[in-house]
This record gives sequence, structure tokens and C-alpha cells, in this order.
Amino acid sequence: MHISKKAQLISPSPTLALDAKAKAMAAEGIDVISFGVGEPDFDTPVNIREAAIAAINAGFTRYTATPGIDDLRRAVCVRLKANFDQEYQPNQIVVSNGAKHSLYNAFTVLVDEGDEVILPTPCWVSYTELIKLCGGIPVFVHATEENDFLMTPEEFMAAITPKTRVLCLNSPSNPTGGVYSAADLQAIAAICVQHNIYVIADEIYAQLLYDGRTYTSISSFGQEIKDLTIIINGVSKSYAMTGWRIGYSASHPVLAKAMGDVQSHVTSNPNSIAQKAAIEALNGPQESIEAMRVEFEKRRNKMVELINAIPGFSARTPGGAFYVFANVANLFGKTLRGVKIEGSTALADVILKEVNVAVVPGFAFERDEFMRFSYATSMEKIIAGLERIAKLIAEAE
Ligand code: PMP
Ligand code: GLU
Repeated sequence: MHISKKAQLISPSPTLALDAKAKAMAAEGIDVISFGVGEPDFDTPVNIREAAIAAINAGFTRYTATPGIDDLRRAVCVRLKANFDQEYQPNQIVVSNGAKHSLYNAFTVLVDEGDEVILPTPCWVSYTELIKLCGGIPVFVHATEENDFLMTPEEFMAAITPKTRVLCLNSPSNPTGGVYSAADLQAIAAICVQHNIYVIADEIYAQLLYDGRTYTSISSFGQEIKDLTIIINGVSKSYAMTGWRIGYSASHPVLAKAMGDVQSHVTSNPNSIAQKAAIEALNGPQESIEAMRVEFEKRRNKMVELINAIPGFSARTPGGAFYVFANVANLFGKTLRGVKIEGSTALADVILKEVNVAVVPGFAFERDEFMRFSYATSMEKIIAGLERIAKLIAEAE
């Protein structure tokens, strides 16, 4: 079989692979607890589901405009203004099949063969592969645990070369939950403007902030940085709508048009019914979103407490998203149920096999000394899953 060189470079998403494995084990009747995939366990709020049913019954089942229907693009603008004080017009919004697809469009229109994309790590699994798919070169900047895994402006500056085209910034971060301060964002924005570096700002977790934090977008520091920024967001995480596949970008109209043109050949419009549901999500009552956020905050607190109670594990308290990135390096070199723990993958494998709890090895996020625990699952499961892990880890010698 012939596989193109580009496709050969791509490895499958480890988070989705782990999710598939956990779901297959559950289907076999195994009592699996998953801290694996970042997917809210809540049902999509009922008003959103009803909007979709109404759309089907009204026959809203045909092709729409490629970048999304006008009402949805307007609803995105209203939400960006209301939530983040960001001014965008509908012609700057492109609605896609999930934020992942929006990211693909953004990398496609910005990155040429050989362009460098600066990627602070730990980073989410898909950025590296999407950059490679576009012929770009990911340039990792390894942010430190002491700085909550956030890249400093100095570290950013040091990674810039004449080939740097894009900075890929994800705040709050998957996998660490780290949230950039306004001061650091302002300094990073100034460097981008000075060096004409575009920013792909993945803000999918911007509404999931804790301890009273408010969100600042890197695009908010003046027109120049706004023109260089493609904001990525979507309804998957904040509205518990992962399966509906609606994401969007907000950018300069020239970039938006280019992304719409690409999308017109790759997928056409995103699902018409899901677009109607997304309008209800963005325009409808927002109380259920706040209720989910409050619940996530409680789960975060419990999960951090229980992880830190396990000898050999330590975790900082993340400011956003729904992940805890725990340092597990103290266990490396030990043996657990006959397996030598040489890295995060070996540890995650033993935990899944021996006590049926799924966690993602830090290796997947370019940082092997850690493991990612998603708390987008119930409090009962958090308590039970960490109890199982604690008992197992106590056997390490
Ligand atoms: N960005 C980040 C940081 C994510 O964690 C995810 C989750 N899959 C996405 C983008 C993609 O989200 P979507 O489901 O909208 O494609
Ligand atoms: N973003 C989620 C995660 O990191 C969903 C899986 C994926 O798309 O990679 O678990």
C-alpha cells in the first residue's frame, strides 16, 4: 500500500485511542473508571437538545453557507463580546466541525512548508500532528512545573528564529489547566507584533476558570495583535456538546475568508442541525453552564487533594479546564505488580490493567514525568478511581 509521506508522519490521537480502549473495556462488562478523555459527563442542556429537534422538524436539513449560518455567526459575536469583551463581526467568524477542525483550518492558512510554529509544552496531543500535516515544524518550548507550566515571555523570545510564523497558545491549557496572566499575555503579544508572528489562540476552555479568575484573550491588547490572532473556540466543552461537532474561529476577515475557502472544499458547512443547537447554546440561558463550572471546581479540589495524598504523586492546583497534571516521576525505577515503571506510559498501562482506571500518560503531551487526570467525571468516580490507584501504588517497591 502507498501512504503519502505526510500521512506517514502522523500518529493517531492517544487521548481518543485511550478513550476507545476504556469504552471497549466497559462494553465487555469491566468496571472501568475513566480519567482519560476530556469530555464532560453532563448531558447537553435540554433547551439545546430541543432546538435541534425543532430544526429537524422544521426541515432545516440542507446545505448551509460554508462558514455557518448568519444567525450563528452573529451569536458567536454576541458571546465573544459578552464573555470576553471582544469585538468581532460575523464575516470574521468561521464555524467548523469542532474546534479541532477550526485548528486545522487555521494551521492550513498560516503555515507553509518549513515554517516554524512555537508550541509551549506540555501541550495537547493534536497540535504537533496538525502542524506536521501542514508541512510546518513544531518548535517546543518546555515550560516548567514551577511556573505552572506556562511559557515565560523570555522563553518565547529565545525560541524565535527567522522561520517562526506562528505561536500556538492554549490558555487555559490542556493538559495542565494553566492560565496565562494578563501581564504575560501582554508581553507575549508585544513580542508577536514586533516579530510579525501570528497567534493561534485556543480558548476552548476560557469559560472553565476557577477561584474567581476572569479571562483575558491575547487578542485584546490592541488592533495589531488582534489582526495577527486567530481565536479558536467551540461549544464542546462549555456546553457539554462534544458529539455535536461545532467549533469556530474569529480572526481578521482576510484570514476568515481563506479558512472558509479551504473548508468549502474539505467539508462544506458543519451539520445544519448542530448549528441551530449551537445558536441556542450561545444565545439561550447560560445558568446551566455556570452550574457545570461550579461542579467542575468542586471536583478539581477533590481530585488535587486525593492525588497529593498518594505517596509519590504531586499535583499543583490548576486554574482552569478540567485536567490535573500530576508529577509521578518519584515512581520511576520502582516495580509494580512485576512491571518495572520506566515512564508514564508503563505506569498508565499498569493502572489500567490492574485496577481498571484510565489516565493519559504525560508522554502524550511531550512530558513523560507526568500523568493527566481528567475530572470531567462524577465525584463518586473521582473518589473511587483514586482510591483504587492509591491502593495499587502502595504496593510499589
Ligand atoms: N483544543 C483543545 C485544547 C482541546 O482539549 C480540544 C478537545 N478535544 C479541542 C481543541 C477540540 O475540541 P472539539 O471537540 O471542539 O473539536
Ligand atoms: N481534548 C480532549 C482530550 O484531550 C478530547 C480528545 C481529543 O480530541 O484529543 O482528552
